[in-house]
Amino acid sequence: MTVAVLPIVNYGDPVLRARGEPVRAFDAALAQLARDMLETMRDARGIGLAAPQVGRPLQLFVLDTGHDREPLELDGRPIADPAEVMPLALANAEVTVLPGEPEPMEEGCLSFPGVRGEVPRVERVAVDFRDLAGAPRRLVATGLLARCIQHEHDHCQGVLFIDRMGAAHRLRVEPKVRRLLRETQAGRRGDGSAA
Ligand SMILES: [Zn+2]
Repeated sequence: MTVAVLPIVNYGDPVLRARGEPVRAFDAALAQLARDMLETMRDARGIGLAAPQVGRPLQLFVLDTGHDREPLELDGRPIADPAEVMPLALANAEVTVLPGEPEPMEEGCLSFPGVRGEVPRVERVAVDFRDLAGAPRRLVATGLLARCIQHEHDHCQGVLFIDRMGAAHRLRVEPKVRRLLRETQAGRRGDGSAA
């Protein structure tokens, strides 16, 4: 079995704005894609990666918040040590917000190198998804994992973290975001004129 580090697409690539297609075939090719995405995520030192970020408009994401100690429930079972269920691959995720106020926290994104900003997100979510075998699963997550799920689920809908930033933070990152957009567009034209 070979595992590949895939190229990560940056902001400006239209695939990041596409709504992902639901996963329909839970086959060896899907398992391979998930393995490659995990390898890509780890290579880039991320904690989550969605399929559109490797150029595939699919409702699939992987994550690993292994060292986080927040309480977690999988299929109705409390998980004492989150590391025992990590990494996770989630297909066709549907996120339900659980009661609580949105909390701001600084986020980055592997498709936005050098861009960080505060994003308010709810503290606790339930997520219904399919695992790589196509089995229905349910995860209840808090804190960093809940945040990561919301960020990656957004990617699968064509929504990006800059869309969720408060106005002041969005304004502050705007110059970097514009520069990234220009670089990506220049790269896609292949004229190498990005400076
Ligand atoms: Zn991201």
